[in-house]
Parts: sequence; C-alpha cells; structure tokens
Amino acid sequence: MRENQKMSSIARSINFSFWRKRLTLLLCVDMLLFVMVAITFAYWRGQLLPEDAIVKKIEITGDGYRNWEYIQLLEDGSYISYKLYEFLKYLVPSFLVLLAFEFIDIFSAMFNTAEIRRRLKPLNDLATKAEQISSLDASHFENLREAISQVSPSQTDLRISTGDKDLQSIEVALNNLLARIQESQKQQNRFISDASHELRTPIAVIQGYVNMLDRWGKDDESVLEESIEALKNESEHMKELVEQLLFLARGDSGRNTLKKTQMDLRDLMQEVYDESVMIDEKHTYKLELDDKEAPLFGDLAMLKQSIRIFVQNAAKYSPEKNTIRLAVKATETSVSYMVQDEGIGIVEEQISHIFERFYRADETRGGSAEGSGLGLSIAKWIVDAHDGTIDVLSRPDIGTRFTITFHRG
Ligand code: ADP
Repeated sequence: MRENQKMSSIARSINFSFWRKRLTLLLCVDMLLFVMVAITFAYWRGQLLPEDAIVKKIEITGDGYRNWEYIQLLEDGSYISYKLYEFLKYLVPSFLVLLAFEFIDIFSAMFNTAEIRRRLKPLNDLATKAEQISSLDASHFENLREAISQVSPSQTDLRISTGDKDLQSIEVALNNLLARIQESQKQQNRFISDASHELRTPIAVIQGYVNMLDRWGKDDESVLEESIEALKNESEHMKELVEQLLFLARGDSGRNTLKKTQMDLRDLMQEVYDESVMIDEKHTYKLELDDKEAPLFGDLAMLKQSIRIFVQNAAKYSPEKNTIRLAVKATETSVSYMVQDEGIGIVEEQISHIFERFYRADETRGGSAEGSGLGLSIAKWIVDAHDGTIDVLSRPDIGTRFTITFHRG
C-alpha cells in the first residue's frame, strides 16, 4: 500500500513537470505566431502605401476591438487609417480553433498520471525485489553459498537448490547460467577429443613410414620414394588440419579479427573461378555474374576462403567431368553467391549436421574424398561473422546447391 502511494506521488510529480513544460512550450508557440502575424500585417499595410509616402509613426486607437483603428501617420502630416477588425475577423476563427486544441492538449495531459504509473510499474517491481533481497537475513545467503559450492560446471546434472522460496528467482537465473556454462564446456571437451582423434591418424601414418624407412629405406630405393611422398602428403594434411583447428579456436575465443574493406562480390567469385579452372581440370566450371554491382563490406581474405570451401567441396563430392556452377546475384536488399554441383548430394536428415565440427556424412566416410569435416564449420563461422545466411538445397545423386546471402544496410 505504502509502495503504491509512493509510486502515485512520483507519477504525479513527473506528470506535473511534464505538464508545466508543455504549457510553456505552447505559450511560446502562441507568442511566435502572434509576432509573425503582426509583422505580416505591418508589411502588407506598408505595401499598400503610395510610392513616395514615408511613415513617421504607427498608432492603434479606438474603444473595443471592433473599433480599433490602425493609423499610419505620414511625414507630410496626412494619415491613413485602417479598421483592424476587417483583418481580425478572418484571423479570429483560426485562433479560436488553435486555442481549443491547445486547451484540450493541456487538459488531457493533466490526467496522464495513471499512464505514467503503469509505465513505472516494472521499475517499481524491480526496486521492490531489490529491497526484499537486501532485507533477507544472512542465513539465506549462507544456504545459497553452500548450494553454489556443491555444483561444478563439469557435473552436468547438478543444479543449485536451497529449497528457500525467497531465493527461488536467483536460483533459476543461476541454474540457467550454469546450464550454459556446462553446455559450452561439453562442446569444448568434444572439440578437443575430436581434434586429438583426427590428429592421431596422420601421426600414426607418419610413424609407420618412419619405421619402414628405418628398417628398409636405406637399401630399397622404391621404399624410400614411397615413404618420402607419403610423409610429404601426411605432413601437409596435418598442417592444414592444425590451421583449421587454430582458426576455429581463435573464433571461439573472439581472437579472429575481421579486416573489413569495401569490395564487389563478383570480383571475389571471378578470382575463385579462375583459380578453380586452373587447378582442377577434371570438372567443368561455369560462372554467372550479375550485371549489377554486388557491393559487400567485409574481410576479403576470409570471404574468399569461404567461397573456396564451398567450391572445393563441390569438386570433392561430384564425379569427374561434371559441371559446377558459380553465380553472384544482387538485389535492392541483398547480395548473394551460389555454388551448385551435380554430385553425390546429401541425405535430408544429414543436412542439418553438415556445419557441425568434424561431421562427415556417411556416404562421404566410405568414399574416396579426403576431408576433416571442418571446412563447412569454418565457412559458416565466416558467413555468420558477416551477418550472412546459408541455404542448402540437396538431393542424393542429383546434386547440392549452397546459397549464401548478405543483407545490405
Ligand atoms: P569435409 O572435410 O568432410 O569436406 P566439410 O565440413 O567441408 O568437411 O563438409 C562436411 C560434410 O558435408 C562432408 O563430409 C560431406 O559429407 C558434406 N558435404 C559438404 N559439401 C558437399 C557437397 N557439395 N556435396 C555433397 N556433400 C557435401
């Protein structure tokens, strides 16, 4: 009750100060209007004087506003008089309408207290809650401290619970926070274990060849050549994997800074197209660029890397001699690029997983295409960092189309 009274009085005083400001503003507007009308009138009367007449003085005389005379005394002693009412009778109705509006405005603002009270309610609730919490005795917080010390981010099922009703809302907030921390810890653990698993394979292969070299390489020329070739490939593969892992780790910790510049998406696509035609003779590449400019403000190197990932995947997952289409489109509201292949496609249930780290669709695992399952996670990170969206359309044995759209402004 006391709280309600306090809030009503605050609302009343806010309303009163608002009302006072409004009244002052309206009075100023009225005065300005009056001055403007007076200047216009004086100017109009001045224009109607004979050409060589010079006004010495202006007077307004007469009893009652209907008889007011506007008198211009001229230098030669003569004067010109004008019945002001002739002018006022046109103005008075407009002034009355204006005054009526102002009156209604000021009058309705006087009753705004209830509305202000309603708007103040959330603030008041917050203040009441804060007051309640500060008035809790120390034993409540001791219970809470005890409950918090029992949980840990690595124990996924444990939640804070004191059974104390006064602390319920704090508990819910803390438990939500805890759940988020636990989820991110789980993801981090999965990432580390997947990464170690992926790195173990090339290390094992390298070890195998080193052992082979150690035993027979010195005498056998063919073993020597095969081993060196395999060591080169595997170390190259490992270097690529480590670079991919570092990129994602930097992304997670917010250390992947974007160096943004203004560019045209068509130029980027043209460059990736030229590279692809040169490197990969097994597929036919087709490029379709919009006539309109496709401006984009972003990190050139990263965006190019993301296009490369989609294009290299298209080549990796489609048979030789197939066509890969690259396109850039621009509309009033967005710019987009598209990479389409006629390859093995992706089963519908797996599409939602392909952007997960280390995920490789079943068909791919069995196939000959090499990969770590990190390419699309990196591409998605880059597109997300540019506020873009990725659409995937894919059918097994028909092909896949990735469309990446960036909204303008
Ligand atoms: P990978 O290194 O395995 O290519 P990505 O993250 O680039 O890893 O892709 C994840 C998975 O998505 C691939 O293993 C593959 O199963 C599937 N995929 C990606 N692009 C295509 C495509 N163009 N056609 C068919 N499958 C694709």
